[in-house]
Amino acid sequence: MKNQDHITQIQEYGAGHYHPLPIVIASALGCWMTDVEGTSYLDMLSAYSAVNQGHRHPKIIAAAKDQMDRVTLCSTAFNHDQGASLCKKLALLTGLEKTLLMNSGAEAVETAIKLARKWSAFVKKIPPGEAEIITFENNFHGRTTTVVSGSSNIKYKAPFGPLTPGFKIVPYDDIDALRKAITHNTAAILIEPIQGEGGINVPQPGYMTRVAQLCEKHNILLIADEIQTGLGRTGKMFACDHEGIKPDIMLLGKALSGGIYPISAVCSPHLHLFKVGEHGSTYGGNPLACAIAKAAIDVIEDEDLDTCADTMGRYLMQQLHKIKAPCIKDIRGKGLLIGLEIKEAYPKARFYCEKLMLEGILCKETNDNVIRFAPPLNISKTEIDGALPKIKHVLHHATL
Ligand SMILES: *Cc1c(COP(=O)(O)O)cnc(C)c1O
Repeated sequence: MKNQDHITQIQEYGAGHYHPLPIVIASALGCWMTDVEGTSYLDMLSAYSAVNQGHRHPKIIAAAKDQMDRVTLCSTAFNHDQGASLCKKLALLTGLEKTLLMNSGAEAVETAIKLARKWSAFVKKIPPGEAEIITFENNFHGRTTTVVSGSSNIKYKAPFGPLTPGFKIVPYDDIDALRKAITHNTAAILIEPIQGEGGINVPQPGYMTRVAQLCEKHNILLIADEIQTGLGRTGKMFACDHEGIKPDIMLLGKALSGGIYPISAVCSPHLHLFKVGEHGSTYGGNPLACAIAKAAIDVIEDEDLDTCADTMGRYLMQQLHKIKAPCIKDIRGKGLLIGLEIKEAYPKARFYCEKLMLEGILCKETNDNVIRFAPPLNISKTEIDGALPKIKHVLHHATL
């Protein structure tokens, strides 16, 4: 079947809740993906930063196969021999003593919300039912009913009410607005150190430090959603590391498995507050997921992927700045999380992504007018150099 045959069929039988580029992937390796017609493309999206390690990294695949030959799921009724070492690894990596494993990013966020609410009642003594969690305009934390209740995006939440109460949404990168929103009932601040889906929004230097100081001063939990920014993506192991911030709760997902199997993690010294039976998941922290996650973290550490992201990110950013096409409004980001914003008078970012696809480069628009460049972190300079003339061509000539 050709690309178009698959697309016609998925349009008939799929829900249609996404608007993918018109390409059908059949295989992938490293920074490259191949469609059903045999055409290869450079992946500059990395599955929204889930494949920081590159597609099908041999060490992660080997760990997965090895574990599949032993045991994949024993349920949470029993312990297994892959969980303890992953939790210990995460404790060393994050500096946060305990870990609770779930499957998707949204579930990790849900877990953090429940933890913050319980903490607020039992430790901070906020009257039951009155705890507030502060979130930020243009945030993205996932798609469950409670998580979208804290979103500022009407499209994510308007049709799905009644929503979960207890969220207060303030402008991002505006410390005064945040300070004014804090009350005695503020339990937690849920924040992305760099907003990913919101358009690759990098706050001013010092902002995260001030957020952390406000949390300290007012006894508020700082929940850092590092699901997209964590595990090397921004040039440090965690985006919080750029300012030396240690959150109370850190959320990881996406690259935690290198794109091989869903697993997410909540890391926090407060996790002991969950009593037996209060939270859980059948697949959460299963042996297969744990074995894969350990290998995925090893690859990031062994191959210094955070340093790679820093070096290649600086290079890509510098070269993108040289393109100087009239449609470019702004180029921003950190490490290999880069957003190129298109001016309003020009076509939407999707238009450019479709043209880039025809040139053999896969990336995706975010927030309508931003093209996100976020390739696997082990992308080579040669691969970037191969992509740049194509990006330049599309930005200069594909317009109007
Ligand atoms: C992707 C993402 C999520 C949600 O992860 P899912 O696995 O899609 O549920 C949450 N927070 C951030 C910052 C993300 O980028």
